[in-house]
Formats: sequence, structure tokens, C-alpha cells
Amino acid sequence: MKRTCFNTELSEKNVGQEVTLIGWVSKKRNLGSIVFIDLRDRSGIIQITVNEGVNLPDIRNEYIITVTGTVSLKEKANPNLKTGAIEIIAKEVEVINTAKTTPLIIADETDALEDTRLKYRYLDLRRPIMQSYQDIRYQIKMAVHEYLSKEHFIEVETPILTLSTPEGARDYLVPSRVHHGKFYALPQSPQIFKQLLMIGGFERYYQIARCFRDEDLRADRQPDFTQIDIETSFLDQDQFLTMMEGLIKEIFARTINYEVKTPLRRMSYQYAMDNYGSDKPDTRFDIKLNDVKEIFKNSEFGGFKDVEAIRAIVVNGVAHETSRKVIDELTLEAKKFGLGGLSVIKVENNDFTGSFVKFLSEEEKEALKTQLNIKDNDLLIIAAGKYNRVCPLLGALRLKYGRQLGLIKPGTFDLLWIVDFPLFERDVENGQITSTHHPFTRPRDEDLKYLDTDPTKILSYAYDIVINGYEAGGGSLRIYNQDVQKKVFEVLGLSDEDIKRKFGFFVDAFQYGTPPHAGMAFGLDRLTMILGNTDNIRDVIAFPKNLAAVCPMSGAPNIVDNDQLKDLGIAVIDWEK
Ligand code: ASP
Repeated sequence: MKRTCFNTELSEKNVGQEVTLIGWVSKKRNLGSIVFIDLRDRSGIIQITVNEGVNLPDIRNEYIITVTGTVSLKEKANPNLKTGAIEIIAKEVEVINTAKTTPLIIADETDALEDTRLKYRYLDLRRPIMQSYQDIRYQIKMAVHEYLSKEHFIEVETPILTLSTPEGARDYLVPSRVHHGKFYALPQSPQIFKQLLMIGGFERYYQIARCFRDEDLRADRQPDFTQIDIETSFLDQDQFLTMMEGLIKEIFARTINYEVKTPLRRMSYQYAMDNYGSDKPDTRFDIKLNDVKEIFKNSEFGGFKDVEAIRAIVVNGVAHETSRKVIDELTLEAKKFGLGGLSVIKVENNDFTGSFVKFLSEEEKEALKTQLNIKDNDLLIIAAGKYNRVCPLLGALRLKYGRQLGLIKPGTFDLLWIVDFPLFERDVENGQITSTHHPFTRPRDEDLKYLDTDPTKILSYAYDIVINGYEAGGGSLRIYNQDVQKKVFEVLGLSDEDIKRKFGFFVDAFQYGTPPHAGMAFGLDRLTMILGNTDNIRDVIAFPKNLAAVCPMSGAPNIVDNDQLKDLGIAVIDWEK
């Protein structure tokens, strides 16, 4: 193969040179005496012009051809192509391989169903936009390697076949052939191993790590995903976050040439929940939650009596167009969040309207008007009930309106740290205590006293980085004191027996000179989504699974031969029967 260069390496500077290119036929236009071919290679598209007299074999879309010809200036440049100013006047065209008609069009715009795209993923990946996502992904990884190695980090691999790790999701299990009845778990993250590497004296570790969590899938979730996993010794929270800000700066600069201004804003978990109803607030638009409980302290309305929280959001300029149907949809949304309903008030002709208005006294109306700065055509949505339901509901509604009303300026980035997370959270349904991050997160020194008395009061040294409303990463300072670690396990309801079986080796290690350590993990897939400007995680993973956790191309997961099951000592039972 005597290719001289990639397509987009050529420009006006090369006019007059003879080149040999190779690639796929993206488009062919036959004008009789002259044929135009768009030739696509990994770098992009260039136009080939085949004049009368040149021997042109039968070629169709997605055939692979090589072209030898002369670079020449086009009469009229095509502004949509990187190589739009030039064309190749072909001397020789040769077919290297033919192709069947493809089941999807190989272009950025596609109307193919996602399952078709996933079934023929190798063709889907040929689309330039799909390659651009992988380019961004690779540039992020290169920024990570370069920045972290400059900061004296070293990449260490940790096991894929391991014990269950505590990130709070369901494990993927792998049966052992050698030890029937025993299972490896695929790591939900390298958490325990990276902490052991700190005890092992590495001080600065990172890994582009594959992680596995058996959870219900969403637009931003896959069963196997990739983290930029990091751990350090001897840094306090400020030092560590500053170092991570340097990394983020480098990633944005390298991938999209965008300057992130540091230090990043820090917002407490409590402030985020109070004002945005979310621990990953999108602060690019201004709708905020307002505490209106005080206004309704004497309310006769049953739904407002003896409730933990009453909060409101104001959406400007939508009252007139808010139909009964829209209000019913909002109520349905409230039910999904476990609330009986919500109160919707329209402001029309400077008066409050809607079925809820009869429950409002004049005083309450006045107080709402002044506290919430209400204007004509505003929509006022009030929710009451448990704090942990009211805030997330209004958080979801502010997001819905923010998007629907186009309040988010495209191309803008909003980065911030959320800090001071509670160490534990209590399940709204069953009252059980679980770790907000994971059980190795260090409680704030001043809150240690609540470990015995009121653990849900404890705040932790945990932090998340939030970009445009996505949790792009998170981590914490870790517990490095054996007794505190044991106490935390106890609060989580783990018996001595459980601790020994699940984390015995880990707790043992803490006795041998454990350095204070801190770390975090960035979601590589989510970062790529944000920087590539797509809201579908499957776009940025070369071979993803669909929402049913199936790979339509390979057919995984699949049944296996009985012999394989026998080797593993496993029989498949229908437990429902
Ligand atoms: N292992 C954590 C996670 O996967 C990140 C960390 O604490 O470093 O979310």
C-alpha cells in the first residue's frame, strides 16, 4: 500500500503534488463526463475528481479504493469540508475491496434505530461524529496520563476478578471452576485496592479503570464503564482538590480548547439541596427553590399542616400557556416522587388563579408576592411533605423547565465542587442507614462525637465535581484510623463476622502504618459526553449495551454449553417456580 498521507493532511500548500490516498467511498456523483467521489478516511473527507479518459472501475458507497492523482485548487471552495479548498484530479483509481449496501447511512445525520446502530456497530463507528467522540475520549486519557505523570503519579492495574467492593450497587459475579460454590465479583471500582496501594507506599496512584455495576440502566449509565481512578497520600482536602482542578483544566484545554477558570466554586451539599433540590445542580439557569413554610404557618390547607418542608419554584412567563393537562402531568410527576400532589398557581392579570387559590388567605398571597418577587404570567409550583421528597421533586421540575424554556445557553460549562456531604443517609422507605459515598469516607473531625449518638448528623470530607448538572466525579478523604473504620462499619449494621468476611484483609492492613489518604474517580464516559456534547452515554463507548443490558451485535449475554455449567458446578434453576 503506497499511501502518501491522510486526506486532511492536504491543503492549498500541496497544490501540484502527486499523492496516493486510500479510504472508503462516502459518495459518488456521476455527471457523465466527470465523476466526483467523496473519499473518507480516518481523518476526514476529500473530493476526488475523475475526468473523462481515466479508467474508473465500478465503485459504490463504502467500497475501499486507492486513488493516485494531483492536488489542485478548486474553482469554488466547499466551506463544509476541512479540505474544501482543494480536490484530487485522479490519474488512477483502484478498488481494494467491495462492500454490500450498508444497513445504515454512514454520515453524521442518521435516522437508523439505535438497536440497528448497535447491531452494526462497526458501521455506526465509521460515522465521523462517532469517531470524534472516541477522539475526545482518547485526548482526555492523554491529558490524564501527561498531567498525572508530571505530578509523580504512577498507573497500577488492579484485579478484575476480585471480592465484592462496596459502592452500593449489585455485583456482577463470576463462578469459580476450581472452587465450586464460590464466586469472584467484578469490581464496582478499585476502591479497596487503591487504598491498599497507599498502605503499600505508592503515594500517588491512578488507573483508567473498568468498573462493573449491575444497576438499572439510564441514558448516562452502562453496566461496564470506565473511571479515571485516583488516590493520593499526605494531601489535605484543599491540596487534593487544587491538584484535581489542574487536571480538569488540562482536560478541557486539550480536548476542546476551553479555559476552565480555577479555583472552582464550592457549594455545600445542604445549600445545593435547599436551593436546587439536587446534589448535582445545573446552575446554568436561575430557577431556585424557595422555602415558603413560614408563610403557611397558619394555613388551613390540610396538605400544609405538620409537614417537614414547604418549598416553591417560580417559572417566569408560562402561566398563560399552562393547561389543565400540563398541571395533571406535574401532579403525576409529584406522585412519582412519593408525594400526594402539588399546588400550582398561575399569576394572570396580577391575580392568582387556579383551583388551589381558594386555600390562600390575602396575607399569604401578599407574602408570596413579595418573598418570591412574582410577576404577571408567572407559574408558581408549591410542594409540601418530607424534605427528601419535596426538594428532589422541585429540583426535577426546575430542570424540566430550564430545558424546555431554553434557559441554558449552549456551549457554556458550569463546573463546581459539592462538599460537606452527610456521611450517612437514611432510606426514605425503610429507614435503613447507608453510606452516602462508601464506608471508607472520613467523617469530619468535629462530628466524630456523633458516631455513637446521632450518626445521621455527621458530615464527611467527601466531594463531587459537578459539570452541567452531571456528577462527573466524586471522592473523599479516607478513614485511616482502625477504630473509626470499625465504628463506621458498626453504624452500617455490619457484624464482626461480616466485617471479617468482607473487609477483614483491609481492616488488618490498617495496623501497619496507614498514611492519611484521599482520592476520587472521574467518570470517563460522562466527561466524554459533556465534552462531546451528547446526552447519550452509548455514543461515547465503542461497544456499549442497550437499555436492556444486551449487546445487539454479539448477542451477549447468552446461554452457555451444559459442559461449561458442569465445570462450574452450576445448574440454572427457575426460582419463581
Ligand atoms: N470509588 C469511588 C467511586 O467509584 C470514588 C472514590 O471514592 O475514589 O465512586
